[in-house]
Amino acid sequence: MNRTATNIINLVFILILFLTSAGTIIANKRLTAPALIYLDPGHGGSDGGAVGADGTTEKDIVLNVCLCLKTYLENAGFQVKMTRAGDYDLAPGSSKNRKRDDIHRRCRMINASDCLLYLSVHANKFSDKRIRGAQVFYNKNQPGSKVLSEAIQEAIGGILQNTRRFAKPINGKYLIENAEKTGCLVEIGFLSNPEELNLLKDAVYQDRMAYAIFTGILMFLENNENMQARPG
Ligand SMILES: [Zn+2]
Repeated sequence: MNRTATNIINLVFILILFLTSAGTIIANKRLTAPALIYLDPGHGGSDGGAVGADGTTEKDIVLNVCLCLKTYLENAGFQVKMTRAGDYDLAPGSSKNRKRDDIHRRCRMINASDCLLYLSVHANKFSDKRIRGAQVFYNKNQPGSKVLSEAIQEAIGGILQNTRRFAKPINGKYLIENAEKTGCLVEIGFLSNPEELNLLKDAVYQDRMAYAIFTGILMFLENNENMQARPG
């Protein structure tokens, strides 16, 4: 059996395991506050992020994916907060450095919360148009973030069959370096690749991407019972 088939079988098995224990987990959460997951759709407002050849902006696609992911998570009993829920950035009106103030505020929002996990969702762009595929990045100093990233990467690869990339540590990203919570940066694909651009624009694909990320989160939590037990 090839690795992909094995991965899919593993995913299905883990989902069955989760679904049989989901009631218990969710029931436990209801006794306390539901566990909080913070979603951070990248960019917004005057900062469109990466732009595809047809003018498609990263800020719109990642917001759609996060809104789909929010629905999956809420239906599974999680509480969800978003750093932004519309087309705006987080810098104050008087800001002289919007990008810096925006990312600092996102980081403060996540750190000030008692979230179980956070996910920052972005899309990529590269000069070589052949480059494609979703990839998850993490802070190498946070072991939990590495495990979460690997689970999400495996779920995206297994469910969407669109990438053989591996989760990787990353430097130089303010939010990833300064967030004090378990979390990761999910780059959902390359707007510079024409085929992937068409997929990323498609509402069904956006929803499937959200479902794959959701599955990765469940796989991570299923394997990290101490995280499940933490009240939200
Ligand atoms: Zn971005």
